[in-house]
Amino acid sequence: MLVDESVDDLAKEFAVETIEKFFNLRLKLAPLKINLKIAYDRYRRQYNAENLLNVVASGIIDGLFMVMLHRDIFVPGLNYVFGVALPFVGCVISTWRLKSPDQNLYHARVSKTIKHELGHVFGLLHCNRRCVMVFANSLLELDLKFDDFCDKCKRYLLGMNILRKFSDTIVQ
Ligand SMILES: [Zn+2]
Ligand SMILES: [Zn+2]
Repeated sequence: MLVDESVDDLAKEFAVETIEKFFNLRLKLAPLKINLKIAYDRYRRQYNAENLLNVVASGIIDGLFMVMLHRDIFVPGLNYVFGVALPFVGCVISTWRLKSPDQNLYHARVSKTIKHELGHVFGLLHCNRRCVMVFANSLLELDLKFDDFCDKCKRYLLGMNILRKFSDTIVQ
């Protein structure tokens, strides 16, 4: 996980906790060492998350990556996004719009965003069940959606050996 200096400690803690609790992945933490200006759109005053994704991807030789930053990000066609992913390459997650004085809410938002983008990284598409893979276009939609994968998505990730097998997430 490549963490930009703009990310607060709480979000970093939530992210690590979510990944270690839910995913069967080996997590390496490192500072994000790219010049963010290359992805900055001065007219939108936002960062182009696709550019960011491509720049980081071109420098990663081994394994998958997750970039975490506290900047307003967008992809062409959308006003903003919480995150963006390239299947089997990596993802970018922004805490910019997730912040809340309510620590539980902040935790849930970071956790849902991470599960959603990692789901994409491992090949999941958007889902229309009661599932964290439901597309969220606003904070309201993010807050309303389920904080876990549905059985179908869970089965897919378990098949890839990506999910940790909790007693309460066993799928038949
Ligand atoms: Zn998505
Ligand atoms: Zn699903």
